[in-house]
Amino acid sequence: MSVRIGHGFDAHRLVDGRPFVLGGVHVPFERGPLGHSDADVLAHALSDALLGACALGDLGKHFPDTDERWKGADSMRLLGACVDMVRELGYEPVNVDATVVVQAPKLAPHLERIRASVAAVLRIETDAVSVKAKTSEGMGYTGDGTGIAAYAVACLTRS
Ligand code: MG
Repeated sequence: MSVRIGHGFDAHRLVDGRPFVLGGVHVPFERGPLGHSDADVLAHALSDALLGACALGDLGKHFPDTDERWKGADSMRLLGACVDMVRELGYEPVNVDATVVVQAPKLAPHLERIRASVAAVLRIETDAVSVKAKTSEGMGYTGDGTGIAAYAVACLTRS
């Protein structure tokens, strides 16, 4: 059995009047991440982790932000496309672990729905999806409200 590990990172600027979407779940907040797609940092970090595990480059390589087709795109659909790509190589996601760093909003009340949303797209059990929320205690761009960041690792196997 072949085991592969991948890592992903993403960050977006938070601006007024954008929907706050994380792992495909809409979180009520007056600000949201700015980007060409829906700027779902968790979906993007997870996508890069899956692609990274198979050395397939990153999300931008497959879905360039210069391409009008991905303007306002639902990033969970892009994550689903990344799942399809790794499956075509014979790999199956086993588990993922992610950390989202943002000062506000509080994500704890939404984490279970986010985990279930990610699990559905990865086609794995919810208990194989870990999503953790952290603040950076007011420091830096994730602490002063400028932005949001996400880190993710993915484990894949091919039998
Ligand atoms: Mg992104």
